[in-house]
Amino acid sequence: MTDVLAAYNLTKAYSSGCQALKGLSLSVQKGECVGLVGESGSGKSTLARCLLLLEKMDEGAVFLHGQPLHLLGKKALRNMRRHMQAVFQHPAAALNPRLKIIDSVMEALDVYRDACPSYLRDVREQREQCAKRLFDMVGLESRFLYSYPHELSGGQKQRAVIARAISIQPSFIVFDEPTASLDMYTQGQILALLKELQRQLGLSYLFISHDVSAVCALSDRIMVMKEGRAVDHFFTEDIFSPERHPYTQKLVNLFAQ
Ligand code: ADP
Ligand code: MG
Repeated sequence: MTDVLAAYNLTKAYSSGCQALKGLSLSVQKGECVGLVGESGSGKSTLARCLLLLEKMDEGAVFLHGQPLHLLGKKALRNMRRHMQAVFQHPAAALNPRLKIIDSVMEALDVYRDACPSYLRDVREQREQCAKRLFDMVGLESRFLYSYPHELSGGQKQRAVIARAISIQPSFIVFDEPTASLDMYTQGQILALLKELQRQLGLSYLFISHDVSAVCALSDRIMVMKEGRAVDHFFTEDIFSPERHPYTQKLVNLFAQ
């Protein structure tokens, strides 16, 4: 097995004095989904932003395909960034309200002009056809190509964000609470879509949620975070094992109610 992503000893304190990450390590292998679960404030989003190098960490190392992201210069980092995408909780915030959906979905491909995912090979030269193919892959009707974000439901907006994320064939995607703003039915649909895309495209995921059942539905392995540390780490099928950390058992019980 090869690590697509490996991070070591991530440490981060905010200027407020809050120690959000206290030496956390994790790895994600090819085609694997690692779930990260923990209560609100445990440091999950800070971890996501540090992995994506959107947030400066105090200490730690992040490797993507063996490349040390934390040591790369701007240009090299830009080249590596196309392999790593992110989907956050609020799709409305991720889409420019003044851009038509086609332009948001094509944003990454417009920047990485030489990117040609295998699934867009025969249409890469035709922008609208590319967008249509991506819409199709995420279950978004092509009648929304020239719509604006406010004309779409929350679930449809998140599908558009996911389309943009897969548009440049990344190998690794971080999902930070991607379904938390959606109703239960739409949550299920989006989880099913993520699972299907992962299978089809051989993607590696870090799936972050405070919702144990969502994490279980998608992940091969689960890490439990508490106060900036990983307190437990196990294969999903072992979640009910009596050997689980008491904190994991507490989280599981909360959701079993
Ligand atoms: P989670 O995603 O698990 O809810 P966060 O990573 O958002 O956790 O937050 C972890 C801790 O860091 C919390 O105590 C939070 O208040 C604090 N925190 C997060 N972002 C900031 C920030 N920009 N400035 C100061 N403190 C922050
Ligand atoms: Mg968060």
